[in-house]
Amino acid sequence: MHVLIDDVQLWDGTGSPAQARTSVEIRDGRIHWIGPASQWQGSRPTVQIVDGRARTLIPGLMDCHVHYSSPGGPDWIARFSDPLPEISIRAIELAEASLRSGVTTARDVGAPQGVSIRLVHMARAGEIKAPNIHAAGTWIAHRGTYVPFARHFNEAHELRDAIRMEIEAGAELIKVALSGWNEGARPKDAAEIPFSEKLLSVAVEEAHMAGFKIACHANDPASCRIAAHAGVDSLEHGMFLEQGDLEAMANNKTFLVPTMSVWDAMLYYAHAVDWPEARKKRAEDLRQGSRLAVMGAVRAGVQVALGTDAGGGAARHGRIAREAELMVECGLEPRDALIAATSSASKLIGEDERGTIEKGKIADLVLLDADPLENVSALRLIAAVFQGGRRVA
Ligand SMILES: [Zn+2]
Repeated sequence: MHVLIDDVQLWDGTGSPAQARTSVEIRDGRIHWIGPASQWQGSRPTVQIVDGRARTLIPGLMDCHVHYSSPGGPDWIARFSDPLPEISIRAIELAEASLRSGVTTARDVGAPQGVSIRLVHMARAGEIKAPNIHAAGTWIAHRGTYVPFARHFNEAHELRDAIRMEIEAGAELIKVALSGWNEGARPKDAAEIPFSEKLLSVAVEEAHMAGFKIACHANDPASCRIAAHAGVDSLEHGMFLEQGDLEAMANNKTFLVPTMSVWDAMLYYAHAVDWPEARKKRAEDLRQGSRLAVMGAVRAGVQVALGTDAGGGAARHGRIAREAELMVECGLEPRDALIAATSSASKLIGEDERGTIEKGKIADLVLLDADPLENVSALRLIAAVFQGGRRVA
């Protein structure tokens, strides 16, 4: 596979300004040459030429928070309990939709019955069209909290066992969920959040000892406080983070994955399917919280990585552009939203051969019919997607 993306505006994701009239040559799946279009010396008839004029080339996008086992939509939670054949086939379709939207790498941070790990195997074997997926396997949560299809524990030793079981099952990162008790499950005198700071530090230690990263769901004030101080690699959602929490995250080098598509989709369904008033109120609180947390994170020097939570909330797959738009609406520059979706995400995921367009790196690329630095909605105008140098959309 030998391709020349010719005479394009290049934004390479390294933090350098975009370069006009640049060409990028791909050979054997990697970036072989980058330079002024006029200086390319190869023989045009021997390569596949892609016209880059009036287009911008950016690194392949990375969605750090998806769940391919659910389609999102108004009853997304119920969809995780669909029959296994249905979940499995749907996951393949949703992963492909995600790839077509420019997502060449994704973290699947929770799926029932090991579906995401099977998806990874199929993608790596080239059996399906899908992003380069890193899967967490099943969520790990304290018994009596979160969702019934998570892997549950009570004591610290069960938590350690749960993490080891996920690793043995093929997970490549660990996902823990901090949340309050389910209705009626709270034992007398129990803490509001049973997943204490001490228990979370056990999880961090166990995951890191095995050489794995740990992502932590936290979306109420108590959980946010615990997660921000525990040294997890990423804090997911975090709409109730306060300044002290954000400073702790900056010190611990914990990434924030804000998943603003969660409340954006909730606000849509609140009127589209006539949800109860309480859910609408929750969405409005989350929106307000996101605005404060995301801008506070930037000021505190917390690294932000983009994640949509497609499937894990009402947000649907294939809409990564929306999350970038919400970041810009929050006050980020388009350039910083793009960094969150490329080079910053690659640091969180641990993908040093992806996330920027540089000589020798894997050719995961997105070609756009507009300039996303001017208007980040350009991410909706996909002209082509390349994965490992192969055109996949
Ligand atoms: Zn999620």
